[in-house]
Amino acid sequence: MLLLRHCHIPRLDHLARSVEPTLLSEAMSIQDFQSRKTFVHLLGETFVDDQVWKQACLPIRMGGFGLTPLSSISGPAFVASWSHTISELPSRFPHLKVIMDKFTCDASSPVGHAFRAYLPTNKKISDYKGIKKLQHQLSISNFKEDFQHLVDAAPTARDEARFRSLQGKSAGAWLHALPTSYSIALNPCEFCLACRLRLGLPITISKWVESCNCNASLDDSGYHLLTCKTGGGPIWSHESIAVWLEYLRSLRIHHCREPRNRYTNSGCRPDIIMFNAESGANINLDISLAHPWSSDVFPSSAEATGVAANRRETRKMAKYEQHNLPGGSVVKVVPLVMEHFGSWGEEARKFLQKLAAFSSDEAGRPNAVEFLDFWRKRFSVQLQKCNVKVIAKKLSMLCGGSERPDSLLAPNFFLVSLSYI
Ligand SMILES: [Zn+2]
Repeated sequence: MLLLRHCHIPRLDHLARSVEPTLLSEAMSIQDFQSRKTFVHLLGETFVDDQVWKQACLPIRMGGFGLTPLSSISGPAFVASWSHTISELPSRFPHLKVIMDKFTCDASSPVGHAFRAYLPTNKKISDYKGIKKLQHQLSISNFKEDFQHLVDAAPTARDEARFRSLQGKSAGAWLHALPTSYSIALNPCEFCLACRLRLGLPITISKWVESCNCNASLDDSGYHLLTCKTGGGPIWSHESIAVWLEYLRSLRIHHCREPRNRYTNSGCRPDIIMFNAESGANINLDISLAHPWSSDVFPSSAEATGVAANRRETRKMAKYEQHNLPGGSVVKVVPLVMEHFGSWGEEARKFLQKLAAFSSDEAGRPNAVEFLDFWRKRFSVQLQKCNVKVIAKKLSMLCGGSERPDSLLAPNFFLVSLSYI
């Protein structure tokens, strides 16, 4: 996927900047066809519908895979390249101004035609003179439109909620992670299943197992397996505590893991307590995982990003604040909530960012940006691993027993997945 995104996708970008888009149409369709074919192959599929491909074409921060088709950037690229040229060239060669003005204003010239076709109707090329990163700006407005179309055409409100959740900051950080060590790498099956969850592709569980051990029926989205009481939440708490402890250790912050009986009979069970050097007090960290389809937040989660995580955070804070310590002081907590699709709760995001300011490299120089970038990817990868682990573990448990359905013996995604895990 990294090779596809970083090597194949931008392969013809230089042509898009210098060749009028209609002349490039054949090359564009071949390039985009190859991108889509490779993407489908990476998912282990033979076909994906247009909606799935449209999502994959969006930038990662908008819930896609950053597989920008050449056909969608050719217009902005060509216009941006000429906008730069018409402000640069006449300043060096003044006699060119007249020629260039004519060239760009004449709708019958390739350049003039492209400007008409790819700029908003109320704009002229002169409005864009000297604007930096124009290609990016024009592309972004196209992507926003594409995203809105995708949301409008979403088959269910659950899909809308998935799209909103994927828009959360760093929700797709795992797709940027270079697999340089085990902790930040996904194996092929983990990667494939993480992609399916992101794209809302069915995970055909119900063919083999109809209901969970809690008697709830299973759905092809994997939602029940991820959120069953014995599933996602507890496993994520366990996995995530380990990563948060690594994070605190790397900042040399004094901490204590899962203190027992700290707030007896209160229902408050912090996962980590850390010493805050700024205030000289301890801070409780409470880790949890929220799903945007949970009945307490759905369908509000289809309207805005991060609703599930933010509400969970609010609830956690209220719960701790109700519990007064013997001296009358209130218990403070930082709820560290993520959503299954990867977005962070506001409190968790701020907490991660705030502590990163204390980081430094081996020579003692501040390196908050690199530090934060690494840890966002680390948490994001860990969450994807956890999602896959939960599904595979529960499925393995449900499929276990005396007789396995025959279809399980056929080579299929999950057998491969389980053997990896
Ligand atoms: Zn269940």
